[in-house]
Amino acid sequence: MVRQIIRYVIAGHNNNDPGAIGYDGISEHFRNVHLQEKIIHGVEGYRIIAVNGTSVIVNTDSQEHSLRRSIDLINRSAGKDDVGSDLHFNFNHPTATGFEIIIHPYTTEENKRRAIYIANEVSGLLDIPLRRRCLRRDYIFPSETPRGRIAIIEDTVIPFVLPEFCFLNQHDLIKYEANEDEVANIIKRALFFEKFNKKIAISKPINKILVMKKQSDKLYKETLLNNQKLPPHV
Ligand SMILES: [Zn+2]
Repeated sequence: MVRQIIRYVIAGHNNNDPGAIGYDGISEHFRNVHLQEKIIHGVEGYRIIAVNGTSVIVNTDSQEHSLRRSIDLINRSAGKDDVGSDLHFNFNHPTATGFEIIIHPYTTEENKRRAIYIANEVSGLLDIPLRRRCLRRDYIFPSETPRGRIAIIEDTVIPFVLPEFCFLNQHDLIKYEANEDEVANIIKRALFFEKFNKKIAISKPINKILVMKKQSDKLYKETLLNNQKLPPHV
């Protein structure tokens, strides 16, 4: 029997540890699950493992099912064409804005193109900046996040993308909520339908980028840069 390619769609955090709380009181995990359901709805031809937070289907929101155990499960069943995504939102900082996507620095070229596609399509659709750490790339690495390390990316043996769709403040969420179905379709295409084996076509290019150092991220000192001009080195 031919092994079916697996797509992991993880709704970040879990019911016991719901992640950031939005300005409207809705948790990040709730939004991650809501989006996850839209992404996996109606997809055929793949084995989809919808991971609820740090637990895998069979054991939803169980603390026993640790992140470590999910990582072990992924690694034990890993096939060469499997890909995973871990869905997240950024916290509720009132003036922050933008989309960012995190991948392993040594991920496959295909997965880099997948990340570039998602970054441009989502930030273009929502009309929010694409947050970078370096001018030349649309994605960021775990070492460049405030946490410094992301186990689901660094400890799994399959390519992962970790999008942070927007901030959980009013400014970003109004745009996100008006476009959630289309955001789900972008991720659906990125995980199931597009091949990314050659140069990608972007239908909704971003119009703003934010470049920030890891440490300035903590201080929320953001520099709004125009994509058209070459910005100064930051
Ligand atoms: Zn999160």
